[in-house]
Amino acid sequence: MTYRSITALKRDQSTCRACFEAGYPLESLPVIAPGSGQRAYLFGQAPGVVEGEERRPWRGRAGKTLRRWLDLDESSFYAAFYCASVTRCYPGRPASGRGDRTPTTEEQRLCERWRDEELRLLKPSLVVTVGGLAARRLLGVRSVGESVGVRYELDGAVAIPLPHPSGASSWLNLAENRARVADAVELIHAELARR
Ligand code: SF4
Repeated sequence: MTYRSITALKRDQSTCRACFEAGYPLESLPVIAPGSGQRAYLFGQAPGVVEGEERRPWRGRAGKTLRRWLDLDESSFYAAFYCASVTRCYPGRPASGRGDRTPTTEEQRLCERWRDEELRLLKPSLVVTVGGLAARRLLGVRSVGESVGVRYELDGAVAIPLPHPSGASSWLNLAENRARVADAVELIHAELARR
């Protein structure tokens, strides 16, 4: 199904239960991008428990870290970025009980329809991926570690990957990697300043 407006898309997206109906254990309803009129598209992995409860993106600790990296307060962040993710519902805990469950490949595939429609309707001039899964799904890169600090093209948009700010990865412990995040943030600000 194609949509004529992002408002109509969000209305249907807010009640999507495709993964639940396919037998997957979701623990929230879809998290919807707040605001309107953004020209940049932020693409993360999946909501966490806080985001699932509030049904708003990037509300927890990772969101605070991301805004600190970008040096943006909350209102500037949500005004600049349409916040989307590989899957839109909080997936719950994995069997180990540690962290959040990574959505299955089938859930990722089921949720692609929302991403594809959003990109078609919004035509963002800047796309920022956050975390390895988002960069692999959208940009086809092999590893987010290799791609941070690099500027990509995606259907006419500039695409810039960031690592995930959850703190789960030790990749950020190395000073040279933190410098690459700073390079990526500089590229993002240069692109934001252009629009
Ligand atoms: S993760 Fe995406 S496809 Fe699955 S139920 Fe939520 S919104 Fe629908």
